[in-house]
Amino acid sequence: MNTILLAADEAGIAQAGRLLADGQVVGIPTETVYGLGANALDGAAVRQIFAAKGRPSDNPLIVHIADFEQIYDLVTVVPEHAKRLAQAYWPGPMTIILPKAACIPDEVSCGLDTVGIRLPSHPVARAVIRAAGVPIAAPSANTSGRPSTTTAAHVMEDMQGKISAVLDGGACAVGVESTVISLAGERPRLLRPGGVSHEQLEAVLGPVEIDRAVTQKIGDDVRVSAPGMKYRHYAPHAPVTAVCGDPEKGAAYIAEHLSTGAGVICFDEYADRFAGHIVHRIGAADDLGAQARHIFDALRAFDETDVTEIWAQCPDDAGLGLAVANRLKKAAGFHVINV
Ligand code: AMP
Ligand code: MG
Repeated sequence: MNTILLAADEAGIAQAGRLLADGQVVGIPTETVYGLGANALDGAAVRQIFAAKGRPSDNPLIVHIADFEQIYDLVTVVPEHAKRLAQAYWPGPMTIILPKAACIPDEVSCGLDTVGIRLPSHPVARAVIRAAGVPIAAPSANTSGRPSTTTAAHVMEDMQGKISAVLDGGACAVGVESTVISLAGERPRLLRPGGVSHEQLEAVLGPVEIDRAVTQKIGDDVRVSAPGMKYRHYAPHAPVTAVCGDPEKGAAYIAEHLSTGAGVICFDEYADRFAGHIVHRIGAADDLGAQARHIFDALRAFDETDVTEIWAQCPDDAGLGLAVANRLKKAAGFHVINV
């Protein structure tokens, strides 16, 4: 299959919409990361997403809508607190898990009785969903286990020859995947940190539990609420060590322990401590937005090098830091050093 690169203009969006309506898979830009989209109501179309990614068949997909009202066709109930959350943070980088309606094929929910719904803010994402005329199931547009994709070029790297088209909407503004919040259980539960912070969720909902898979390694035998959380994720080829705590101490620790062939992911202020090594800076220590935008690009970039190990400075858990730290710790297989 020849994968075509479409410009995100009127013609490109219309063509992407036709391909999606026709049951094909298209890489689409969103404000979080690129998604690998297919008609969410067509099980056969959705199966091709799993094939293109090599995604484990028990890892469910998020369904993307262009207008709030579409949610009523996809879930059995929209509780009051879900409406309040949507009002506060949709369109935006947040997925709400609710009990699924019968129209959601098993290929999307992977045997669960719930479905994740998201209303993205990226104008191209919403235009293409409207053009397709159906809700769009879309996981991140990377090969399973690799870092997520935040540019059309990244998507081409992983998906060339495997999907029909990629719609080029430029670099993603958030850079990490959506916050996943479950409202399907007794209490609200944060399953994956993302662009909407835990603090922002609590401002609307009151107390929100953080699933332990966010901060800890979960054994293969444990049943988790977000099946995606148990898989090794975001991993470059070289092993990663995440260094948390005071950034100054962290930089000193890394400089001391760095082996000759090692690479470094660091905050901008500390880049000159690692002369002679391949260094990717992800933003200033206090600029969590920049860190979120650059983290996957940095992790991916090391795969084009022959570094033997990667040391990464990791922010603390406040605000967007929880999402950045979660991606880094997962990339590190939870090999974390606290200084
Ligand atoms: P991705 O789209 O690749 O970013 O992955 C979607 C994430 O959302 C994975 O971690 C899934 O496990 C999670 N997810 C999707 N649907 C559900 C659901 N119904 N219940 C719990 N987690 C879900
Ligand atoms: Mg993913």
